[in-house]
Amino acid sequence: MSVEIVQRNLLNILEAVAEAVAASSATKRCRFVAVGKTKPADLIEACYSQGQRHFGENYVQELEEKSATLAEKCADIRWHFIGQVQSNKIGKICSSPGIWCIETVENEKHARLFDKEWSKHGATSSPLRVLVQVNTSGEENKGGIAVGEAPKLAEFIQTNCQNLKFDGFMTIGSFDHSHTDGRNPDFDNLFRVREQWATMTGEPADSVELSMGMSDDFLQAIQQGATSVRVGSKLFGARVYKNK
Ligand SMILES: *Cc1c(COP(=O)(O)O)cnc(C)c1O
Repeated sequence: MSVEIVQRNLLNILEAVAEAVAASSATKRCRFVAVGKTKPADLIEACYSQGQRHFGENYVQELEEKSATLAEKCADIRWHFIGQVQSNKIGKICSSPGIWCIETVENEKHARLFDKEWSKHGATSSPLRVLVQVNTSGEENKGGIAVGEAPKLAEFIQTNCQNLKFDGFMTIGSFDHSHTDGRNPDFDNLFRVREQWATMTGEPADSVELSMGMSDDFLQAIQQGATSVRVGSKLFGARVYKNK
């Protein structure tokens, strides 16, 4: 896709997000995370030049390459890691320039490892933001911690990981739920998890993020309280995967 088309898509999506926020009674703000997986660094730069700052990547190798390529040109970029975490890649994620938020923390072990790695790489900067990924659909093949366990993991991070900042909850949700009209039960589940966390800790629910919604359902997600949406194909075009 050309730079011009991507930049036009970006403006259209940002406008749609703003309208959805204005119409939503469940949220007052929504950040837009541009998901660039499989897409080249120059398309990311094209969005950055229009003022976009938050970008998401799923694959550690792509994050490493693009963050290095863009480190100087896009000095203020904010990378979100949104892929499945593997213990042996946590160091690489933490040393990627501009890494800003890990959206896919799903157990105490990974939280502890991020805490430890960030103390090496980011000791001079602020805490690394992390979201707890929740398996709201209960599907076996989906990442994330069980709904009932999620608030406790959040509290664990707040209590035990001084180099991390617990910053909210994230879900991917089931494909079917995101392609059916009406309220999405995954988004309702994530909303309730945040309520439970707020009750448990005494902190205001809206002090942390709800990252939910992708290309096909981000407007629905905002209606149900999303404060951060992750959109790839609607911005950059469909992904083409090389044959393995
Ligand atoms: C790929 C991906 C997205 C973006 O998906 P689109 O449908 O292309 O918008 C969002 N979140 C996660 C976790 C992803 O892996």
